[in-house]
Amino acid sequence: MAVIPVAIAGAPYEVRVGTGLLVGLVDQCRGKLRKRRVPIITDANVHAAWGAVIENALHEGGHEAVWRILPPGEATKGWDQLAATLDWLLAEEVERGDHILALGGGVIGDLTGFAAAVLKRGCHFIQLPTTLLAQVDSSVGGKTAINTSAGKNLVGAFHQPSLVLADLAVLDTLPRRELLAGYAEVVKYGLLGDADFFAWCDANAAAMLAGDPALREYAVAHSVAAKARIVAEDERETTGARALLNLGHTFGHALEAQTGFSDHLLHGEAVALGMVLAARFSATRGLMPMASAEHIAAHLRALGMAADISGLSLNCDGRSLVAHMLHDKKMDAGTLPFVLLRGIGEAFLARDVALDDVAAFLDK
Ligand code: NAD
Ligand code: ZN
Repeated sequence: MAVIPVAIAGAPYEVRVGTGLLVGLVDQCRGKLRKRRVPIITDANVHAAWGAVIENALHEGGHEAVWRILPPGEATKGWDQLAATLDWLLAEEVERGDHILALGGGVIGDLTGFAAAVLKRGCHFIQLPTTLLAQVDSSVGGKTAINTSAGKNLVGAFHQPSLVLADLAVLDTLPRRELLAGYAEVVKYGLLGDADFFAWCDANAAAMLAGDPALREYAVAHSVAAKARIVAEDERETTGARALLNLGHTFGHALEAQTGFSDHLLHGEAVALGMVLAARFSATRGLMPMASAEHIAAHLRALGMAADISGLSLNCDGRSLVAHMLHDKKMDAGTLPFVLLRGIGEAFLARDVALDDVAAFLDK
């Protein structure tokens, strides 16, 4: 097991990465489960795959699982489920000192984290991330949110979990497409600041994604450590350090918006395409060799991921894609910062990018 400390001022916590952590759940949560009944929020897919494991683990440790099982999918992360979940937590008489468990991907983690943030002005919660994306990204760093009709993640709070248990065994039941989408956020850490890690990914990602336990642990722990470092430096996205985590996300957001935030294009798939676009755009500006950008594309393709937007049938021009970017919440005071690359592992925040240049680049 790897243990990664997240050094947030006032509320440091650990991310533990290993195989079999859910079986040992009560041991892992020692000192945190004060009551016999333990509230757990999850979705129906995750409950079907892992509910019994959790149920047994809690039972053997002298606890009882009290489930709230939500429908799978992004639509769960909205006002209706937030309100119903808060009412449920109140009916369960959850108190401020209690811990709520979030068992699932980013949808469940974001919703539960936000509910925990506002329930009685702040309860504890524990992240049990079950997607690769949630393990390496959304469960760490304390961003919680729901979607509204105005857009994604526009209502939320910074609220750190008190513990994250990333059990690698859960990845065995994750659909391959979701696994690959989550991998985009893994390789992102290499591209944004760690050329050695990108080289490691180049050599090991195929075996890691096929399920090799030691490689999985290395990939997840290394990614979490990268995120933890950035988050500790910039907990509330004020200094700019955290902005680098948006590599591929501004381009990716435009693709997600154009495809209607649908199953047609998963977030991680959009990020993978977005990172290739950011790299190629950087190359056209003379910031890095085009060969490096194509190396990134080839790496993704070799794993079975899409690396070219030509396959998406977007039916729109560059200007419409840029219009989607302007609706992204990351826009600050009328300027649109882009995370660009000076090379693999050398991301930086460019604030001087002319949107006409971006539109022209996307038209090609
Ligand atoms: P998700 O939670 O929708 O999970 C993807 C699918 O996989 C769902 O159908 C789910 O039921 C299923 N699933 C999950 N774990 C499984 C398992 N072990 N076995 C079988 N099926 C399983 O999607 P996601 O990609 O994990 O998260 C996306 C969400 O995360 C978005 O809402 C995004 O905004 C959010 N996010 C938040 C942050 C953050 O910092 N808070 C960062 C990135 C993304
Ligand atoms: Zn992302």
